Amino acid sequence: MNKLASRRAFLKGKVSRNDQTSIRPPGADADEFLDLCTRCDECREACPEDIIKFDSQGWPVVQLDAGPCTFCGDCASACPTGALNPEQVEAWPWRAKVAASCLSMNGVSCRICQDNCEHGAIRFRLQTGGRAEPVLDADTCTGCGACASACPAGSVSFERHTPPTNEVTL
Ligand code: SF4
Ligand code: SF4
Ligand code: SF4
Repeated sequence: MNKLASRRAFLKGKVSRNDQTSIRPPGADADEFLDLCTRCDECREACPEDIIKFDSQGWPVVQLDAGPCTFCGDCASACPTGALNPEQVEAWPWRAKVAASCLSMNGVSCRICQDNCEHGAIRFRLQTGGRAEPVLDADTCTGCGACASACPAGSVSFERHTPPTNEVTL
């Protein structure tokens, strides 16, 4: 969608200002991103991994099933509006999760996600019938996407992870 068309979509109310589900490039603040991003395309052009695409309404998203993010920060450094903050690249909130379509969960021998996770965030829990369930450690997972881009079943997606706080509510 070009900029004019995406602006029409926004004016028609098809873009939520409180979108917390789209995977924006590293350094994006979910609450402010849509106010600051001009859809200028600089981040997509700067990404050496070519994993920044545009969603159906013209906003940049990181497509982790196209390849892993290295968190190099080139996208954020290229952003001219402050929609991506280079100081916040490491504050990546996304963590991998595996769907029921996973081959291993359906009795087909597969450990490709584990083999591609250099952080050791995936282990397998054996089940009956030759099945094994991948178990992801959200504290170890960086959300890099290496597992997602390697998964032959397309079973890995990402969700926002909020670390538990130790604050005591009185
Ligand atoms: S941090 Fe680097 S690899 Fe990741 S989306 Fe930005 S430019 Fe691409
Ligand atoms: S460089 Fe910044 S303003 Fe331009 S499209 Fe990317 S996030 Fe939006
Ligand atoms: S997103 Fe990266 S760190 Fe997390 S489980 Fe997948 S490969 Fe491992």
